[in-house]
Amino acid sequence: MGQYTTAITVLGATGSIGLNTLDVIRRHPEEFSVFALTAHRQIDKLAQLCQQFMPQYAVVADEIAARQLQQQLQHLQVTRTQVLFGQEALCEVSQASEVDGVMVAIVGAAALLPALSAAKAGKTIYLANKETLVMAGALFMQTIQQSGARLLPVDSEHNAIFQTLPENYNGQLNEAGVASLILTASGGPFLHTPVADFAAITPEQAIKHPNWHMGQKISVDSASMMNKGLELIEAHWLFNAPANQLEVIIHPQSIIHSMVRYIDGSVLAQLGEADMRIPIAYCMGLRHRMHSGAEPLDFTANPQLTFLPPDFERFPCLKLAYDVLHSDNNAASCILNAANEVAVAAFLNHQLRFTDLSVLVDFCLQKLSQQQAASIDELMQLDARVRTIAQEWINKQVN
Ligand code: NAD
Ligand code: MG
Repeated sequence: MGQYTTAITVLGATGSIGLNTLDVIRRHPEEFSVFALTAHRQIDKLAQLCQQFMPQYAVVADEIAARQLQQQLQHLQVTRTQVLFGQEALCEVSQASEVDGVMVAIVGAAALLPALSAAKAGKTIYLANKETLVMAGALFMQTIQQSGARLLPVDSEHNAIFQTLPENYNGQLNEAGVASLILTASGGPFLHTPVADFAAITPEQAIKHPNWHMGQKISVDSASMMNKGLELIEAHWLFNAPANQLEVIIHPQSIIHSMVRYIDGSVLAQLGEADMRIPIAYCMGLRHRMHSGAEPLDFTANPQLTFLPPDFERFPCLKLAYDVLHSDNNAASCILNAANEVAVAAFLNHQLRFTDLSVLVDFCLQKLSQQQAASIDELMQLDARVRTIAQEWINKQVN
């Protein structure tokens, strides 16, 4: 082991990916130290994490949350950690000179500015958040290229593809002999539910994913298969893959995490338990294998691996995302993302039916179909505008 430890900021430390990341860090104390931990409003959880990992900084949403955290840290006699709050502080702990690696595990578009700060500062970025690339993929990838930052994909499908592409892959599928990238999808909890029952699906049913334990937003996205749609766009940016070289196949067991189809007929797959510590460890080890805490895959416990084509009528959100990807319009994917975030929040709040998710996203895409957005300001303005329009649509449904 070297003398030097890799200093890590974990954005979204209290969430599902954040906690899995800290679990991996805990297993490798000679390799990693924690520079900053952030959370939105889960103060109790964050205070405990500060006590365990002793970061230099903890960042929360606002001044009230900061005061509460400060009190808890005093109570726990944690004096090392300085408490900060707000977007600017998130950006600061992502770009600070002391930081080597940033785990981006905030959910939604809120991750964009801190992720961009890390990218501009040339950090090693472990990217779990997919909304950043859906909202601003061109800009984000350009920033990475200009600064020389290193981008490692945590999302299990993209991590699987990253593992099965040649290690010297340079963004040219043809040069690597790749015919297509195949994203596997579990199909979520409603793969076999009669479509006629979809309108009555409750948030409680939607967030019960059969294979993965994840945050609420991504769980609803998985149930509607918007998650796979967002992942198509994410794969497009990460691997420079055009829409016609991206496939989706439903594989309900979630044992194969994704595959690469080569032009000679070979298909390479990455397999494992459904445990996010596997892709997290692969990223944090910079592709060197290290223990993640995941159980070894038991083939005899999973004797059947099955596959189905995706059904666009059952999952219209997936179709909307494919259409956006084909349209190659940055503004459209920003609209798709913002509308979906508002729709999912309203569904979780019992203000929308499950079947309204795609209707609302489609409404926003059509209403703003003439929009263009390239710069960060234009994208942020468009994101805000979509949220207003989507909220008005919801208010009309509720009243
Ligand atoms: P989660 O809801 O469990 O955790 C989200 C974290 O972000 C929490 O720490 C929360 O405090 C913080 N947060 C929420 N809103 C915020 C805001 N407005 N500003 C700052 N911080 C905020 O989510 P998760 O399941 O861990 O997912 C995180 C991201 O990783 C998502 O973008 C998701 O799509 C992606 N991802 C998750 C998984 C998974 O297995 N959970 C797999 C692949 C990709
Ligand atoms: Mg995924």
